[in-house]
Amino acid sequence: MEKKQYERPHIIKLNTGMPAKFGMMNDSFLMTHIEGIPVKDLINEHGSPLFVISEQVIRNTFRKAYKAFNTRYPKVQFAWSYKTNYLTAVSNIFHQEGAWAEVVSGFEYDKAIANGIDPKKIIFNGPGKSEEELITAANNGSLIHIDHPDELYQLINLAEATLQKPKVAIRVNMDTGIYPMWDRFGFNYENGQAWDALNKIMNSGKLELMGLHTHIGTFIMSANAYGIAAAKLAELTVGLYTKYNHTIKYLDLGGGFASKNTLKGSYLPGSDTNPGFDDYAEAISTALLNSPIKPENLPILVLETGRALIDDAAWLISSVIGNKRLPSGRRATIIDAGVNILFTSFWYQHQITPAQGHSQYREDTSLYGPLCMNIDCIRESVNLPQLNKGDKLVIHNVGAYNITQWMQFITLRPRVVLIDKDSQIRIIREREKLDNIQMQEQVPESLILHSDSVVFP
Ligand SMILES: *Cc1c(COP(=O)(O)O)cnc(C)c1O
Repeated sequence: MEKKQYERPHIIKLNTGMPAKFGMMNDSFLMTHIEGIPVKDLINEHGSPLFVISEQVIRNTFRKAYKAFNTRYPKVQFAWSYKTNYLTAVSNIFHQEGAWAEVVSGFEYDKAIANGIDPKKIIFNGPGKSEEELITAANNGSLIHIDHPDELYQLINLAEATLQKPKVAIRVNMDTGIYPMWDRFGFNYENGQAWDALNKIMNSGKLELMGLHTHIGTFIMSANAYGIAAAKLAELTVGLYTKYNHTIKYLDLGGGFASKNTLKGSYLPGSDTNPGFDDYAEAISTALLNSPIKPENLPILVLETGRALIDDAAWLISSVIGNKRLPSGRRATIIDAGVNILFTSFWYQHQITPAQGHSQYREDTSLYGPLCMNIDCIRESVNLPQLNKGDKLVIHNVGAYNITQWMQFITLRPRVVLIDKDSQIRIIREREKLDNIQMQEQVPESLILHSDSVVFP
């Protein structure tokens, strides 16, 4: 029998494990393996901290999402939101599953092309496209989603010289009952801006109006909001048919579906409360099928789902650096993963599970990262067993936005591995080295230090 670990006694307020003002006690069950692979081995082989992504979970989640829509609506097309996670291996799994690419910058556009996607299957969103980028996208027959009037006029101007009529949609913002409204992108529905833009496009004769787009926000907890959005886009679709006899090829409802994560301040875990793909699909397809759009004119339904497709497919493994007691008596545990690589810890209560056996005793703990910054807190309060120096823990649902928004700050960024569908571990992004950082820098001759140029008294 294994010898029980000694823990010194503590005196602490009784914690009954009932829901508190801040929600349920975090049930940090044990997670010693990820998809059958020991966490300890992953760290020994690839270093700590480490991002681990599961190909099978990505494929399963995608298929579940596709099925939710495809069983309710005849024509469905997903487009992978690059900014959510644009690692080539990850993007290409989505492309293999049939997703187009959805990009919001010239850099992401070039990355999608370099990944090997057909440019006709790229949706180019965002408020900041340069003239050169617009020309390239137009020449390639990519789908350009116009964000503001100046971009519209610029495209009409450029259209004289492009190899083909630019294929466009407009982004529409609207009141769907979600506040604050994301009204800084696109043309407003309620005040008529959207119609103004459509009239200009149709009368210019220079652009090929393919679709209508909206992206109402992110982590939207109401499926009903999508029903409202779909109904409003359907009304514009019918208006274009009535006035111009023009058939819209696709309606793009954007992204924004909630993942299974738990938002900060939530009373219950997100996996219990957040709407699922079926709920969103039901709201959107019902609104479109009940709209006055004629069945033969039903547009393709495009979805740019980001976080809900990838969040649950990734974990961040981290090691304990040390423990201490704060003056308040609270236990603080310092781990080697900071907020610079886990941006989402600012708005999620990420689930945390120990990766090795532990005793029964649990305690509310503050979990800090390794940065010398006060904001470097992964969880302000999480109920955890005693974790000792060198112990490992697993942070769940980290697939969305972390690997794109991470910062090289104080520490270097860690390796990312994929557990592929044959359970093989593949490195899909190498850890950063000092050289990667130095490579970008240049030092003027006069600022190169020589051994005699630094003199200590
Ligand atoms: C970020 C973004 C998405 C993806 O949003 P999620 O909330 O991650 O689903 C989709 N479309 C556009 C235009 C975006 O900017």
